[in-house]
Amino acid sequence: MRLIIFGPPGSGKGTYASRLSPIFNIPHISTGQILRDARNDQKYGTIIKECQEKGELVPIDIVVEMLKKKLSEPDCKNGFILDGYPRNVEQAKKISDIPIDFIINLVVSDDIIIKRLSSRRQCDKCGEIYNILYLKPKEEGKCDKCGGNLIQRDDDKEDVIKERLKIYEEETRPVLDYYKRKVKIIDIECRDINASPDFMVEKILTALRKEGVKV
Ligand code: AMP
Repeated sequence: MRLIIFGPPGSGKGTYASRLSPIFNIPHISTGQILRDARNDQKYGTIIKECQEKGELVPIDIVVEMLKKKLSEPDCKNGFILDGYPRNVEQAKKISDIPIDFIINLVVSDDIIIKRLSSRRQCDKCGEIYNILYLKPKEEGKCDKCGGNLIQRDDDKEDVIKERLKIYEEETRPVLDYYKRKVKIIDIECRDINASPDFMVEKILTALRKEGVKV
């Protein structure tokens, strides 16, 4: 199963992909996380950090090099869930040799996104996502999974969020047109900010079952 989970920043891509990954027994590949983990890289660390702090896209050659390396690892042999890639049509073309089964397109309003991202927290060790309003950890400031510290990402500040949404509208949304005739796109709407991740994951699974996926 090769899935792309698609949608604006804050639409829940990472949250749902991390829950879908054990269900299908395939890895969750987040380019945002791969790049965050590479911020100390000698060659690319500085440029990655600079782009991420401003909410701008990291240069395509760097992203593609890191992504292809990851996709060539043995755990991706049976498939993967791609989160955060492709961010524009040029990036989509770079993986045109890899057959994709479905695109899960998360449809969420800007209102929900801004509220959600400004209250989002992420584990600095394992990357698990929380929200101080409605997806709280058991112990304040600590990750339920690994005990790591929960931090606010520097690109989850309001002015950077607006920049990321602008890039999404201008560059990322057109990716759907590129895939329209190539890959089945499944729209998943989220109208309620309080909809639990479990509820949304079930909605995704139901939609996949309708497409004949046995899960
Ligand atoms: P995300 O975790 O997907 O919200 O990504 C956080 C940041 O990482 C983005 O604002 C970009 O700076 C960078 N990034 C993630 N994925 C990509 C990509 N496919 N191409 C370029 N930059 C990316």
